Amino acid sequence: MSEWSDSDGTQRIDLHSHSAWSDGTTGVGELFSQARSAGLDVLALTDHDTVAGWPELPAAVAASGVAAVPGIEVSSEEGTRSVHILALLVDPSPGTDLATEMARARSSRVRRARRMVELISADHPIAWEDVEAQVAGDTTVIGRPHIADALVAAGVVRDRSAAFDEVLRPSGPYYVPYDAPSPCTAVRAIRDAGGVSVLAHPGSVTRDDDLPLALIEELVAAGLDGIEADHREHDAAESARLRDFARRHDLLITGGSDFHGTGKPNLLGENLTAPEVLARIQERASGGTGVIRP
Ligand code: AMP
Ligand code: ZN
Ligand code: FE
Ligand code: FE
Repeated sequence: MSEWSDSDGTQRIDLHSHSAWSDGTTGVGELFSQARSAGLDVLALTDHDTVAGWPELPAAVAASGVAAVPGIEVSSEEGTRSVHILALLVDPSPGTDLATEMARARSSRVRRARRMVELISADHPIAWEDVEAQVAGDTTVIGRPHIADALVAAGVVRDRSAAFDEVLRPSGPYYVPYDAPSPCTAVRAIRDAGGVSVLAHPGSVTRDDDLPLALIEELVAAGLDGIEADHREHDAAESARLRDFARRHDLLITGGSDFHGTGKPNLLGENLTAPEVLARIQERASGGTGVIRP
């Protein structure tokens, strides 16, 4: 047990969340204040393809009393599948291959979002300015959720989920992919940057179908450290299947809420990671980035 556990010894650790620096709806300070209200002891900030929120972590931790695991949710692509990989305690320096890949993904996300909006605007009343209006502050990571919010604001759909189902799904007519590294390249880049890699929600990769175990096996060979078995988009059978796979391959098993503020129904702390697993993540991380404690 580590030194910041509660008096009763139970630590509540959520290793997956987003702020408004990507496609969440809360700032980092507000995110950690909500984490405190949710009774969390530790929260990982894992915005898509960016470390832009990291500088705000020390103040958020001090104000909330909730420890932070600095992280990133790295986008990768295998054919038409989008595969998300959590990079925990990774070196955030701009010089790494990981940083280069993410910068490429961020700029290609802008081109891709513009193209999707162009395609959608042939059938629905929406323009690029409507999407820009949904992007908070200095955010440089534009994603489909921002287009979804613009569609909601324009009255085309009821909410983000309906936007994904009806307009933005990968199998739909408006979907455009963006440039991202292959999952194996991402896993290696995370390791090279001293981080710990965890395959995010493998049971819901495109929301259209599951990630084949054969691909996960390739990632294990490339150095994957863990699997996020506990996630809202896995049912009990899926979660059990992934836990079994993780045990057979000696992978760490994590859980996280994938909180996006009011952008998704996910609630902070709805899935948790065991304290022993966080201890092993800290042991493995070698990039000099540690957990930020109150
Ligand atoms: P992108 O990286 O731009 O392709 O968008 C992926 C983001 O969209 C992720 O943050 C997901 O959480 C979110 N997302 C994907 N599918 C759905 C869905 N069906 N409902 C709500 N959000 C979704
Ligand atoms: Zn997201
Ligand atoms: Fe994800
Ligand atoms: Fe996420």
